[in-house]
Amino acid sequence: MVNFSLSEEEKGIRRMLNEFAVKEIRPRAAAVDKDPEHRFDWEIVRKAARLNILGMPVPEAYGGAGLPLFSLAIATEELAYGDAGISSCIGMNWLNEIMIILEGNQYNYERYLPMLSAQEGNLSANAVTEPMAGSDAWTYRRYLPGALRTIARKDGSDYVINGVKAHVTNGGLADLYLALASLDPNGGRDASAYFYVPGDAPGVSVGMVEDKMGQRVLQNAEVIFTDVRVPAENLYGEEGKGLWYVENIHHSLSGGAVGASSIGIARAAYDEALAYAKERVQGGKPIIEHQSVSFKLADMSTLIEAGRTLAWKAIWANIQNLGGEPRLSRMARVFCTEAAVKVTLEAIQLFGGYGFIKDCLIEKLLRDAALNLCPNDINRLDLAENLS
Ligand SMILES: Cc1cc2nc3c(=O)[nH]c(=O)nc-3n(C[C@H](O)[C@H](O)[C@H](O)COP(=O)(O)OP(=O)(O)OC[C@H]3O[C@@H](n4cnc5c(N)ncnc54)[C@H](O)[C@@H]3O)c2cc1C
Repeated sequence: MVNFSLSEEEKGIRRMLNEFAVKEIRPRAAAVDKDPEHRFDWEIVRKAARLNILGMPVPEAYGGAGLPLFSLAIATEELAYGDAGISSCIGMNWLNEIMIILEGNQYNYERYLPMLSAQEGNLSANAVTEPMAGSDAWTYRRYLPGALRTIARKDGSDYVINGVKAHVTNGGLADLYLALASLDPNGGRDASAYFYVPGDAPGVSVGMVEDKMGQRVLQNAEVIFTDVRVPAENLYGEEGKGLWYVENIHHSLSGGAVGASSIGIARAAYDEALAYAKERVQGGKPIIEHQSVSFKLADMSTLIEAGRTLAWKAIWANIQNLGGEPRLSRMARVFCTEAAVKVTLEAIQLFGGYGFIKDCLIEKLLRDAALNLCPNDINRLDLAENLS
């Protein structure tokens, strides 16, 4: 029998994360969004670290909370209900922690897992995209030889890494990068490899920090590797499998997560719109009593429910069969991100003229939702190429 209900533990996680989102994240989100100096909100990240939110999937033996992977689906939605940028920032830590747990060895566990779940709030990043390799850096099957320009050259037992990575979430803030490179400038996918690169390694520097339209609290930056020397034990998994890890672990896990985060944004917009529709009186009654308004709200809540179900199924399926369900992850990513944009646009309509004013939360939610659309057409392409 299929069971869609949450366990008591999962309900507890949802309550705790919702409280953190509503009491701690949301009250700061608008100010951080508007900060002209674009300062990163370390205070909220450190608070999350003290509650062991940063180390949720890390086993207790390494300082984490040791929570089951599915609980991250619930937690992601709740954090995004507070602020999607904070959810993306912390979600990036979870993704890297899971990647380490899956393909790391004892040395990597002891070195990196306690660091990423420490109470000081240490962040990590995953550097794949390059200025000249966007979608091309994310595909295992369609990879064109030479597309990756970040090169890891073997020197004795070390690797020396040179290249530039673009749009990196937590770029410039991270204590640890998982960075994709090619072992051969003309190599195909079998020349790709992932490396653990400490944020303070000599030769790691930060280029442009992006001034984004949405999720402005999230720091995305160019990260430059100039003759960065790492020892052989900093190889992630196996040589030649870098792009395989990108497609089958990173992309598969992040599809459901981006879906869950988008549903958190949509739910925030829906709650605001519902409250406003009950309170705003036009035509002699609260606008919710006009059928066209209540129909909009009904459709919004249906999209949220459908999206959450798909995101949860994608995450659940990936936990059962890691990398075996990229199809559901892509569907969840496309459906939920587009649903969040639809819901936030409908919410703006319900607010009438107020919806467009910068002091109205909905305007921010629309910008935050739009950011998650990238790169939906590539996910559609992958789905279209694998129709059955
Ligand atoms: C908020 C945010 C966070 C990010 N975080 C990270 C991160 O942590 N680490 C990281 O490495 N990257 C990160 N990225 C980068 C992201 O992965 C890339 O933006 C994405 O892979 C697309 O690459 P691109 O921007 O270069 O676009 P391109 O690949 O240049 O695509 C441009 C357009 O062309 C289309 N297109 C491209 N190739 C094809 C094709 N073969 N067939 C048909 N159409 C095609 C695309 O659909 C798109 O519409 C982030 C991006 C955003 C917006």
